[in-house]
Formats: sequence, structure tokens, C-alpha cells
Amino acid sequence: MEIPDATLRDLREVGRDLYRLGLVSSRGGNLSVRDGHALWITGTGAMLGYLGARDVSRALPDGAHDPPPPSSDTVLHWTIYATTDAGAVAHAHPRHAVALSFERDRFTPEDAEGRIHLREVPVVAPGPLQEQQLAEALREARVAILRGHGAYARAASLWDALHWITALEESAHVAWLRRLASR
Ligand SMILES: [Zn+2]
Repeated sequence: MEIPDATLRDLREVGRDLYRLGLVSSRGGNLSVRDGHALWITGTGAMLGYLGARDVSRALPDGAHDPPPPSSDTVLHWTIYATTDAGAVAHAHPRHAVALSFERDRFTPEDAEGRIHLREVPVVAPGPLQEQQLAEALREARVAILRGHGAYARAASLWDALHWITALEESAHVAWLRRLASR
């Protein structure tokens, strides 16, 4: 099945923004959009900054998919869709947020924007239960961090998911600068 033009455009533009903003390495992160009972999800190792139709897989809940091989996070994306009302999921590696995640179970933004938009951001420890725990965390939170790895945002659209990832990184960067300034 061919990917709808509007879906490909959103994946391409949001992926490009995440890459150009330095929120993923050239082959890091992944994106998905729900389409009825299927998902459009970036392929394993896809370059988010340069996505084309051949980089996006259509995946079904039973594990069936069209080429390319879907992201290694596909089960997690399905778990998030099953647990929340998300229409899209984005995963990136915002560096200040990842750096903060090593030493805490949640990140509470100190800046006004972050406090309004994010309130509290749960941090999930890596392990065998991480998929279920991230999905549970995303029931309430718009974005959650997998400790030492990256952020997962769920939203109605990819553009909203991009907003939560960028808002998180902005707040995490402010938190770091504040620490440095108060030394
Ligand atoms: Zn990752």
C-alpha cells in the first residue's frame, strides 16, 4: 500500500526538523503515525533528516509489515497506541534531557513554558518492562524519557509530538544553564 502524501510530508518535515535541531543523530530516532488499524513507521536505521517513501514501513499489529523492516521500537509504538489516544509518536535523543535523566525519576521543568506545557516528565529505567512502563507514563504525560537514551512523545499529530520533544529539550537546557550559573 502506498503511503498517503500528507502522511509522508509530515514524517519528512518533522524528521528533518528533529535532525536539523540536533535532536537525533543521522540514523537515530523514529516516528510513527496511526492509520486505522495500521501504522506508518520509519524503518530500522532510517535517516530522519532525509526520509522518502522507501524509508517508511506500513506495520500491522500482528507484526506483519511492508518493506523496509520497521523500526526496532515498533512494539513500543504499538504499546503506546494501545495505552493512550495518540495519533502519532516521536522518539528522539534530546541531549540535555538525556543527560539529566541519569540521576532522577522525573524531571520537573523550572522555566515557565515547560511548567505550563510539560508540568512533570517521567523518567523510566531501561529494562524488560520499559515498553509497558513508558506507555503507562504516557497516559498522563505528553513526553517521557527512557533513562540514558531518549524521549518519547505522543500526541494527536506528529507536529504536536515535535512540540513536546522540543519543549522538553528547551526546559532541560535551561535547567542545565541554571545549574551552571548558580555554581
Ligand atoms: Zn533511540
